[in-house]
Amino acid sequence: MFTAKDERTALEAVPEGLFIDGQWRPAASGGTFPVEDPSTGQVVAEVSDGSAQDAQDALGAAHRAGPAWASTPPRERGEILRRAYQALVDRTEELALVMTLEMGKPLDHSRSEIAYAAEFFRWFSEEAVRVRGDWLVAPDGRGRLLTMRQPVGSCLFVTPWNFPIAMGTRKIGPALAAGCTVVIKPAALTPLSMLSLARILEDAGLPAGVLNVVTTSSSGRTLEPLYGDGRLRKLSFTGSTEVGRSLYARAAEGVLRISMELGGNAPFLVFADADLDAAVDGAVQAKMRNVGEACTAANRFHVESEVAGEFSRRLAERLEAMKVGRGTEAGVEVGPLVDEATRDKVDELVRDAVGRGAEVLTGGEAISGPGHFYRPTVLGSVPGGSRLLSEEVFGPVAPVVSFETEEEAVRAANDTEFGLVAYVYTSDLKRAIRVIEGLETGMVGLNRGLVSNPAAPFGGVKSSGIGREGGREGIEEYLETKYVAIDL
Ligand code: NAP
Ligand code: MG
Repeated sequence: MFTAKDERTALEAVPEGLFIDGQWRPAASGGTFPVEDPSTGQVVAEVSDGSAQDAQDALGAAHRAGPAWASTPPRERGEILRRAYQALVDRTEELALVMTLEMGKPLDHSRSEIAYAAEFFRWFSEEAVRVRGDWLVAPDGRGRLLTMRQPVGSCLFVTPWNFPIAMGTRKIGPALAAGCTVVIKPAALTPLSMLSLARILEDAGLPAGVLNVVTTSSSGRTLEPLYGDGRLRKLSFTGSTEVGRSLYARAAEGVLRISMELGGNAPFLVFADADLDAAVDGAVQAKMRNVGEACTAANRFHVESEVAGEFSRRLAERLEAMKVGRGTEAGVEVGPLVDEATRDKVDELVRDAVGRGAEVLTGGEAISGPGHFYRPTVLGSVPGGSRLLSEEVFGPVAPVVSFETEEEAVRAANDTEFGLVAYVYTSDLKRAIRVIEGLETGMVGLNRGLVSNPAAPFGGVKSSGIGREGGREGIEEYLETKYVAIDL
């Protein structure tokens, strides 16, 4: 248990200012903006409000640091990441507390995120020394074809509030391993975790300018001049499809390399032949991790009609038993939603479904303040056309719909513009393979409610994005291929 004094100590350890060219400095304007605790609405910190000038300074620093960082021995780059991995692990408690204070999720969820985030640094510290090219005898035998891999250059990262550190390390790890330099802009709702992460990398020996952090309350205006700036070579964004789409268009100005991790609308399929206990456990995990505020969150449950009633009843029992409260309190499993707008959107989607005839099996309403709490909710017999089947819920709400045939299940699963992840519960191997091959998603959880793993390629298809983070593929996003024609 943490005391109010622990909270103050953890917040005081967060560095102040923007981190540009190895210096912690105030915003050019001198302004700041507040960060709130979503469980109380209280301001917990003020952070520097960066502007376009600060962003350009940061890009200048990244650009200047580029050549020396690219020629730093890969082992040295890897060892800095390895030290930062260790520091994240060693400082988990303090970092988890800060994360919970700014974002609201229960402490155990913050701890899991930090463990997950740290693993990207460990993984990419190992990948730094495994970048290789190719050598080929030209088909006519008269020359040799050499391909080499080089860092892309300066990158701009824009990250969301739902995983304030992991969405950073998943980009920073491979970029630094590859020899790229970075400007990162964390979400305005959760800047503190990223500032702490920058301090950890600084302490781990990262040279000045290799990583720069610009916090701002006006991301659009602040980043505006960067997209067409010739010093920028890559944009990697994690966030909503709406904002991602507009940044994708902006990236065309500089013909930037891009990676986009966007919204999801994960279907969770349960066949009658599935192990129902495992399916319910997986459903709780896929729905309630991060209070439902995850791009991988199960958005809709499609359950074969024979078991739909039983599955819904058991899921409702589990969600009803979960303890809701301030994330810092012992035993709390469900924290507040990040802000009022997020909670109101969740409530709106639930009302829409109930208005069309969905049955409330548990929850179905907001909890009055302070804080933006919503009761864990299961809705049964949700009619087609309900908005929460096609829109991203981003909260603790599980709509259940039934299906009759495998074809119908796959069709329903794919009936969305999104394609990040799908979950499939069945004990029939042939069916599993058929269904997996038919799903239009970048990832599938087979009899598992959690897919995220730093050693695996995370990413989506369709409107869920472009590119992969983690795995062997992760570092590819930060490498260019240079081909050399050699005459003999
Ligand atoms: P968001 O509103 O798109 O914000 C994401 C980031 O973009 C924030 O840093 C935000 O800054 C910034 N931003 C907003 N407008 C911008 C603009 N005009 N120009 C430049 N930057 C801008 O998304 P969110 O609400 O924070 O996050 C939730 C979304 O992220 C969900 O859709 C979720 O599915 C998605 N997500 C996807 C993945 C994945 O890997 N596929 C992972 C996590 C989350 P401000 O904070 O200043 O608004
Ligand atoms: Mg937002």
